[in-house]
Amino acid sequence: VLVVGSGFGGFHAARELERRLPADGADIVLASPDDHLTYGPLLPNVAAGVLEPRHATVALHSGLRRTRHVAGAVEELDLVDRTAVLRGADGSTRYLAWDRLVLAPGAVTRMPPVPGLADHAFSLKTLADAVTLRDHVVGQLDRADATEDPALRRAHATFVLVGAGYTGLEAAAQLWLFAHRAQAQLSRLQARDIRFVLVDVADQILPQLGSFLGRRARAVLRRRGIEVLLRTTVERVDAGVVQLSSGRVESHTLVWAAGVTAEPVVGRLGLPLTRGRLHVDENLRVTGAGGVFAIGDAAAVPDLTQPGRLTPPTAQHAERQGRAVGRNVAASLGFGTQRRYRHRDLGLVVDLGPWAAVARPLGIPLWSVPAALVTRGYHLLALPSVSGRARVLLDWLLDLVSRPQLTRVGWPRPPAPTHPTATPAEESAA
Ligand SMILES: Cc1cc2nc3c(=O)[nH]c(=O)nc-3n(C[C@H](O)[C@H](O)[C@H](O)COP(=O)(O)OP(=O)(O)OC[C@H]3O[C@@H](n4cnc5c(N)ncnc54)[C@H](O)[C@@H]3O)c2cc1C
Repeated sequence: VLVVGSGFGGFHAARELERRLPADGADIVLASPDDHLTYGPLLPNVAAGVLEPRHATVALHSGLRRTRHVAGAVEELDLVDRTAVLRGADGSTRYLAWDRLVLAPGAVTRMPPVPGLADHAFSLKTLADAVTLRDHVVGQLDRADATEDPALRRAHATFVLVGAGYTGLEAAAQLWLFAHRAQAQLSRLQARDIRFVLVDVADQILPQLGSFLGRRARAVLRRRGIEVLLRTTVERVDAGVVQLSSGRVESHTLVWAAGVTAEPVVGRLGLPLTRGRLHVDENLRVTGAGGVFAIGDAAAVPDLTQPGRLTPPTAQHAERQGRAVGRNVAASLGFGTQRRYRHRDLGLVVDLGPWAAVARPLGIPLWSVPAALVTRGYHLLALPSVSGRARVLLDWLLDLVSRPQLTRVGWPRPPAPTHPTATPAEESAA
């Protein structure tokens, strides 16, 4: 069985396959450029320096016993010959054969063709993105502190974030806290020089949580002085300037958190897609391809709890689809029985800082400290590693009692995505 991708979906699929398939009769291979699962919901914590980068990951070797990890990205798949072409980080090529294929390559940042956007925008999708963004923010605060020119100081200390869904909101709220705590350690930069602007084309923030919790989240942003510009688009980005539909903002930082699309390998298969995601049935089988299953952000999975809708691209669904696909793949090989994927959403949690959050666990609206406790408690429980939970908890506690460390790791910025643009069809679907 070849599993493509080591995120929430792929990791839990491999784990379930290990449980269900006999050790002497099945070879489970996990192909991924990463040697770990990245816990995406904790990336804003990494970008804001609250968590050490490695602590937002789970090493494959600690969580999987007998799955063989083959490092590299699957570039091509032959669904007739049942083979895959894998490209290693060193450019080497490997061929892998499979009887059953589980596609879980997740999603990539989707950017519209706005001039300058792909060259200047930062994403927050991978661990490298989060570390690079943190380095950049520290660098900008440093420059703002060093310059004698007040206008330049303000430009370096201005941060524009696009996308008022959970990623953009968490990033804005947590980076704001980081910048202000950092400012206290800097001699010239004043709190009044720091400006955060959150932009979205929609007319409300956090549409996933409804208007009541959206208003609660907005109140937190208002108290911190984060400007929210709704019904606003990015028209152009140049070095040092972000041109919005509502005006010009002098800034050297634009974080793009306004949408994802399935990893491009799934689009090259020539199989039916829904909103760029692979069409699958309720047993997670890919339509039109025998022996192929797909899950997570790369798959358009029917939501049996809300007929006619698809399950949203969240960690919660990817993890459960991973377990379900493990069961169904094993059943297709003669071990156990198939089951339709059916999961009622447990709700969403949005971390806005140590004591601020909004959440809707099991439909109950929560905000402020209760929401913060539920949010962080949920992440601790959801991390599939006991030592990983301890590391995250210790980082959170340390962050409460210590000042942020203004050190840049010095990583080079990752190359701009090679697939940055959304088609008009995807844009309208989004
Ligand atoms: C900043 C941020 C915050 C988020 N917050 C939340 C939240 O609060 N709640 C929530 O439910 N969800 C949240 N999410 C979304 C959640 O992380 C995703 O829905 C989830 O990770 C999807 O799981 P997946 O297995 O489909 O993909 P991923 O977890 O993205 O894993 C994909 C894996 O496939 C690998 N891969 C990619 N291409 C290839 C290839 N060609 N060949 C082989 N391997 C490949 C990748 O390296 C990666 O290991 C957040 C995401 C981000 C980025």
